[in-house]
Amino acid sequence: SVPLQRLESKSVCPYCGTGCGVIIEHNGQQITGVRGDPDHPANYGQLCSKGSTLHLSCHGSDRASEPLRRDRTSSDWTALTWNEALTQMADSWAEIIHRQGPQAVALYVSGQLPTEDYYVANKLAKGFIGTNHIDTNSRLCMASAVTGYKLSLGMDSVPCAYEDLEETDCLFIVGANVAYAHPILFRRIEAAKLRRPELKIIVADPRRTPTASIADIFLPLKPGTDVALFHGMLHILIWDNHIDREYIAAHTEGWDELKARVQNYTPQRAAEICQISEAELRAAAQAFGAAPSVLSLWCQGLNQSSHGTDKNSSLINLHLATGQIGRPGAGPFSLTGQPNAMGGRETGGMPALLPGHREVANPEHRSEMTALWGVSNLHPQPGYTAVPLFQAVDRGEIESIWISCTNPVLSMPDQQQVQRALNRARLVVLQDSYLGTETADYCDLLLPAASWGEREALVTNSERRISHLRKAVPAPGEARPDWMIYRDFAFALGEALDQLQHPLPDHRDSSWHDRAQRLFDFPDSASIFREYQRCTQGRDLDISGLDFALLDSQGPQQWPFPSGAKSGKKRLYSDGVFSTPSGRARFHAPEFQGVAEEIDARYPLRLTTGRLRDQWHSMSRTGKVAALFASDEEAFLEIYPEDAQRLKLQNEDLARVISRRGHNVLRVRIQHNLQPGLVFAPMHFGRRFAPAALCNQLTLPAIDPVSGEPEFKHTAVRIEPA
Ligand code: SF4
Repeated sequence: SVPLQRLESKSVCPYCGTGCGVIIEHNGQQITGVRGDPDHPANYGQLCSKGSTLHLSCHGSDRASEPLRRDRTSSDWTALTWNEALTQMADSWAEIIHRQGPQAVALYVSGQLPTEDYYVANKLAKGFIGTNHIDTNSRLCMASAVTGYKLSLGMDSVPCAYEDLEETDCLFIVGANVAYAHPILFRRIEAAKLRRPELKIIVADPRRTPTASIADIFLPLKPGTDVALFHGMLHILIWDNHIDREYIAAHTEGWDELKARVQNYTPQRAAEICQISEAELRAAAQAFGAAPSVLSLWCQGLNQSSHGTDKNSSLINLHLATGQIGRPGAGPFSLTGQPNAMGGRETGGMPALLPGHREVANPEHRSEMTALWGVSNLHPQPGYTAVPLFQAVDRGEIESIWISCTNPVLSMPDQQQVQRALNRARLVVLQDSYLGTETADYCDLLLPAASWGEREALVTNSERRISHLRKAVPAPGEARPDWMIYRDFAFALGEALDQLQHPLPDHRDSSWHDRAQRLFDFPDSASIFREYQRCTQGRDLDISGLDFALLDSQGPQQWPFPSGAKSGKKRLYSDGVFSTPSGRARFHAPEFQGVAEEIDARYPLRLTTGRLRDQWHSMSRTGKVAALFASDEEAFLEIYPEDAQRLKLQNEDLARVISRRGHNVLRVRIQHNLQPGLVFAPMHFGRRFAPAALCNQLTLPAIDPVSGEPEFKHTAVRIEPA
């Protein structure tokens, strides 16, 4: 026998958007340990509880290792070869496309997919099949940050760097429990506060989360009132002469409309809407206005809202009005939830986007991409975003959906509709590394994907930093990288479309087979990266100067990194020139609007959902690690003491939580950290861990009209003892 070796490979943690560098310890066959990468600028060797137990989550009997087919009338799976699986799927999709057109099929992908996968999936949908119905579970977490940045700054470009956490004089954390969702960034914040106690920290959140423990000013605002908070703060900043008139005049537009709008948000009115004291509001505005540099951090608290775009642009208004952008320690910094939500945005992995921050609806962008891809045209209409996508499946308008690396039966709002949609679809394909997810119960075909450490990959973290992840060990059985499955499916679909004599869209190729071979000539990850790079040339995220060798020798780099550059760009907009047609940033002046589903006599409590420190998404990985259940063993419901007393609930009791769409049974935790009338449930637990506690059976399908992001942060519920 060959002696097992002790080997190491550089990688990045596959959980949150912090993107911590990880060194994988392995023996060439199995991952045996992990430690933080001391050279990675996101974490300098530190890992949180999830990252440091990654090795315990990799191998297990629930790994998908061969293609499987199931007849929906039985629960038995039949193993297939790759050729059989892809041919069967291609025959089905070709028949649907031939009969109903390409808009009758859809892909639903994931912010956990690496950049190469996103790029190939997007090219397959938009460039080959001709449908823009490809959305991602990133829709559920940062779509409103994308639309907020685009509205205000002209491009979806996070202007800041993690170093700003150490350099800032004032941190404004709003709608983000950084301590739980981005633990290593929180450690950096704690260290900065320890080093410089004068660093002012403002935290605004309906719950007094662990993040609020380091706040100098805590604003326990009513859920959904962020726009009123930001307008109220701006009103005070104007009155106290804390705005930067020169910056506004030189670099922005729309100031007069915004000024007129916020005139009505007097401190008294804004405080009333937010249900905080006027003194608290004034203290926050004063701290923001007086600080030489201000950095705002936000996450799902702003994004997961039926007015998430308004909330994002109103927060960015504060930075533009005070000139707090494009310099050290300053700027509006959206934290991405997932490890490659940024890479997905960059490669155009959303229904309204094309690679290189281009837009489907923009004729010039389409024309650039038709030239780059070598196709004659691209569909001009954006496809469906996640919630309307599943609704279209439910209506029968989309007949087949291909889900990759995500678990919508747990993570989408209004579960009943998602489950109905999947039951109705003619063919549900799930591409995943795991067998036992809630979504696997609804699929006809399961395609096994290689997972973290089992393939080469590229990801971009929250600060625009691209890392190159090395393969450490082989994937189990027949599992393959996702991009390879998309590529091989394109080949199979080409054959199937030829058999049906489906008309080609142009005369560039003599058959669909030839077309697939030409468009998907990707022998490896590097070839995909080179093609994607060409799509970024001359764009705001130009990475034409990067290659794998440079990433390996000089470490992860921030974009842009154009050809000839020596390094990436730490901060954007330092020159005050923005990516709008006029070069000026745009103020937006939305009116405050309430939540989509207000409480009433029958549903008198506000449910908000969120993450736990030690679990990740639907727990496919973290659910395998016993130590990660030490803090929170099961799903629960946090409730304010007076509400619990009124409902005759004690700690540890079971409570039934009922919304207009469904109900859950959860164990009660009485918590002072809430406000009266507010209850909280974690989003992670599915039927494997808590059969009656799927919190998205309660949530509603209301979405932001611009970003399409659902309102997970507010549902009207009532509670009864169970
Ligand atoms: Fe992984 Fe995020 Fe923890 Fe870093 S902070 S180790 S990226 S989960």
